Amino acid sequence: MENSKKNNVPMSSPEINEEDRQSVMEVLNTTNLSMGPKIDQFEQAVKDLTGSRHALAVSSGTTGLHLCIRAAGIEQGDLVITTPFSFISSTNVILFEKAIPVFVDVDPLTGNIDADQLKQAIRDLNKGGKDAARWLPRNLPEKTGRLKAVLSVDVFGQPADYDSLIPVCEEHGLTIIEDSCEALGATYKGKPAGKFGKYGAFAFYPNKQITTGEGGIIITDDDEDAAFMQALRNQGRAPGDAWLQHTYLGYNYRLDEMSAALGLSQIKRLDHMLDSRAQVADWYAQYLQEFPMIETPQVLPTTTRMSWFVYVIRLDKSIDRDDFARRLLANEVPVRPYFLPIHLQPYIATQFGYRRGDYPVTEALGDRGLALPFSSVMSEEQVEQVCEGIRKSL
Ligand SMILES: *Cc1c(COP(=O)(O)O)cnc(C)c1O
Repeated sequence: MENSKKNNVPMSSPEINEEDRQSVMEVLNTTNLSMGPKIDQFEQAVKDLTGSRHALAVSSGTTGLHLCIRAAGIEQGDLVITTPFSFISSTNVILFEKAIPVFVDVDPLTGNIDADQLKQAIRDLNKGGKDAARWLPRNLPEKTGRLKAVLSVDVFGQPADYDSLIPVCEEHGLTIIEDSCEALGATYKGKPAGKFGKYGAFAFYPNKQITTGEGGIIITDDDEDAAFMQALRNQGRAPGDAWLQHTYLGYNYRLDEMSAALGLSQIKRLDHMLDSRAQVADWYAQYLQEFPMIETPQVLPTTTRMSWFVYVIRLDKSIDRDDFARRLLANEVPVRPYFLPIHLQPYIATQFGYRRGDYPVTEALGDRGLALPFSSVMSEEQVEQVCEGIRKSL
């Protein structure tokens, strides 16, 4: 029945070709379905792309970020600065270790962390007392340690303002963890996303720029931490440990060979796929010009390569976003609000006592943002179809 309907434009779509299928089939014809050569080759491809000393394939972007948190030595009560305008896992990985996410609001143009507010927050948190309190959640856990790290998100495929972030973090001895899960292949002033922190993480869920089904990769230049994270992803087996020997509290965060084979085959076409995404973004920008109530995404001059992840428009305040979304759906255009602010997610608002009004820029972006159908395989006709749906729905 589904197929008899006229072809709706999907929200997102992976780009899988015959070579991808062949690569996965090849693995299935071997007996080596985990911890084999495909992992090594996929990791090497990411090292080549980013110029990192180490790349570690993991089971998801979230598990990758979690290992970064562990490697950074973040423990119960430690403070980690991050943003509430992100996918939930950038905050969850902090909570996994019972550390405390300290939210700093975002730049209204990019949705990335606001560098001026970050500087102020770091100064104030280090001062303590009243100055620190204005950045901390209302409900503060009893065990509250010191500020240790900044987890910065490269939102929608655009790197954060690292020329501003890095000096202040260095000055205060803070580790940067770069959540590049939306930014594989992006560059900031010519340097690859993922390389600006001590650790960077990428993700390969099917709506990302390349996919492994589920999967992720961590990069770092630190030899010791790379060995530690390698142990943690493999049940805490340290280098030299026998199969049933476990030096650390670890996890099964391994990526399997079929997924790695798919990732390896996909990453070979990354350039092409990023170009296709940029083309779709260009078409959208062009066709959306006729709607003065719609703001299209901005790419900063410092973003020397945008790695388009999603295409999020912002609606004029006079438009009720959720009503508009319902009308679009009725006109067969799937859309998604992007993002729902993290501080207002029920369990986080409850635990930490956040309220609406706490992070006004994040909330405004969250209220007005709508992701349109987007992928590397989208045609100009499909972009027109979406814009026709928008015309009918406005
Ligand atoms: C996709 C994504 C992740 C990780 O997602 P997984 O589904 O665990 O692979 C983390 N952070 C951000 C910002 C993301 O968009």
